[in-house]
Order: sequence, then structure tokens, then C-alpha cells
Amino acid sequence: ARIIAAGATREDDALEASIRPRRLDEYLGQAPVREQLGIYIEAAKRRGEALDHVLIFGPPGLGKTTLSQVIANEMGVGLRQTSGPVIERAGDLAALLTNLQPHDVLFIDEIHRMQPVIEEVLYPAMEDFQIDIMIGEGPAARSIKLDLPPFTLIGATTRAGLLTAPLRDRFGIVQRLEFYSAEELTRIVRRSAQIMGIACDAAGAGEIARRSRGTPRIANRLLRRVRDYAQVMAGGRITLEAAQAAMQMLKVDPEGFDELDRRLLRTLIEHFDGGPVGVESLAASLSEERGTIEDVIEPYLIQQGYLVRTARGRMASARAYRHFGLAGKAPPADLF
Ligand code: ADP
Repeated sequence: ARIIAAGATREDDALEASIRPRRLDEYLGQAPVREQLGIYIEAAKRRGEALDHVLIFGPPGLGKTTLSQVIANEMGVGLRQTSGPVIERAGDLAALLTNLQPHDVLFIDEIHRMQPVIEEVLYPAMEDFQIDIMIGEGPAARSIKLDLPPFTLIGATTRAGLLTAPLRDRFGIVQRLEFYSAEELTRIVRRSAQIMGIACDAAGAGEIARRSRGTPRIANRLLRRVRDYAQVMAGGRITLEAAQAAMQMLKVDPEGFDELDRRLLRTLIEHFDGGPVGVESLAASLSEERGTIEDVIEPYLIQQGYLVRTARGRMASARAYRHFGLAGKAPPADLF
């Protein structure tokens, strides 16, 4: 399994639950998001209203689900969670909506993957707190309107551009999560280590942070593996040396790239002469899904300046060539 694949699996176990932030002040990093939401939450509470609908977008593992739980906790309301692809019929969504208590949060992960007919149920629900449901069948069928309690819909998606315009327009609050800095991830690692009860010094935490692709889910996952290593091989203490040795064993390189990152960059450089190459061709040659490349692998490589997205496709930057100890591609001779 890809240890640093941010999207792949979720460790929904007790440890995972215990390190997940519950309050806004435990939600580290993302300062602008925290500041704005803190104000909106306080204002909604003072007015005694449900918080406006919130759209959160950003790559997997940056804390969208966590943030929705934090919002519900801070609002002091209940939380229901579902995801776009698991809602099979309009009736499933109607059942969820009609069971909400006033001001509750309904969290829909991967909201861009909802079927269009189900998405349409959401429009009046979000706008007027009403849904239309069909009663009966055939000629006797008729539609009735049901009132819903005022509620907050929180939708999560990897990219805002995946949403239809009518859906996007119905969110009053739109927040984009950014990759975390090494300093922010260091704080996250130290907090998690403390909750796990493993000694971890600043240098050890920093090393895990730097190799976590800007992603808290990866940082926590690496921390768990480094903890195993430290307990068995390094006297139960996570130091710089223990972290480095564990990470070498896990094949996570100093940039935080794993095999898939390296394979993508090498394929681009070696098979496509550095690009530009369309994402479909790249996906075919890596035997990966296009969506995995676009949502999971690529964003961090682009943010770090290893990969460039152009109108004609993906290109490897000079930095990517240097990473593999290669000279950058020479400009075409006819340029001069
Ligand atoms: P997403 O829904 O965006 O895929 P999650 O909300 O599941 O990501 O976050 C992944 C894990 O990372 C969580 O279990 C949580 O422990 C940790 N995490 C996420 N955001 C933060 C944060 N801002 N501060 C501390 N830990 C975080």
C-alpha cells in the first residue's frame, strides 16, 4: 500500500479519533480559514441561527472532514456525515434531511460525485429549507413540499471547479485549504505524538513534517510508522536519526516523494522527454486513474514547482530534472 497516498484509506480507529482536532484552536495551520470561520460561527451563534452553507475544497488529507466536525462542535450542534457517491436515490437524501435537528450540520464528502437528480433535491433544501418529494406512482403520483429545519450543509471536494455552477452558487461560505508548511506540520506531529504517548523531539518531528507532502493525514500516518520503528529500534524516542532511518525503510525520500511521485516524474522525463504531455497519456503510461493523478499526486508536485501544468499538458521543471541528478531539457535548436 502507498503509505503516503493521502486519499487511499482512512484509519478510522480509536487512535485516529483521539488525535483528530475537535475545536478550532486545536485545528492547526490554515490561519485565514480558522480566522474567518471563527467569526462566522460566533456571529451565527449570537444571532441564534444556523451557520450558512460551507464549501471546503482542497486535496485529500488536508482536513476537510476534520474541519466539518470542528464546525459542528463549535456551533454546538449535531453532525451527520455522508458522501456524494453513496447517496443512491433521492429518497436517501430526503431521509437524511428530514431527520436533521434545527441548526445541525450535514456533511457531504466528495459532493461533486453526487448524481444530478440528487443534486437537484439539494437546491431548494439549501435555499428555502424545503424539499419536494413524490408520493405514489403512475397517474396518481403527486409531489408534496416538506419543510426542513434550518441546517448547515458542508460540502467537501478536491477541486472547486468540479462542482456545477448552481450548486457552487448556493454556498455562502467557500474555503480553500492549502498545503501545510513544515512548521505547521511539525506542530501537528508533536501534538499527535503527545496524545499517542511517544517521546518525540523537535528535530524528529521536523523530519517527519518535511516528508509529509504538506498533508496532516500523511504526517500522522508516517508518525505511526516511525513510532513503531522508534519503539523497537531506537529506545522509544523519536529523534532525527530514528525518523530518518524509519523513513529510509519506508522509502519516503527527503522531499517526501514516494514511489508514485517519483514514477510520475521519471515517466514524464524519460518517456515523454519532459513533456508537455496530456494527463490521459500520462495516466495510461503509469496505469493510474486520471483522477488519482489530478487530485492526489499532482497538486503537491505543482505547488512545490516540480511539475508545471500548461495548456498543452504537463511538463517537468528544471527542479524535477535536478531531483534525479539529470540536466534539464535543452531548448529546441530552432529557437535560436
Ligand atoms: P480530508 O477530509 O481533507 O481528506 P481529514 O479531515 O480526514 O482530511 O484529515 C486527515 C487527518 O489529518 C485527520 O484525521 C486529522 O487528524 C488530521 N488533521 C487534518 N487537519 C488538521 C489540522 N488542521 N490540525 C491537526 N490535524 C489535522
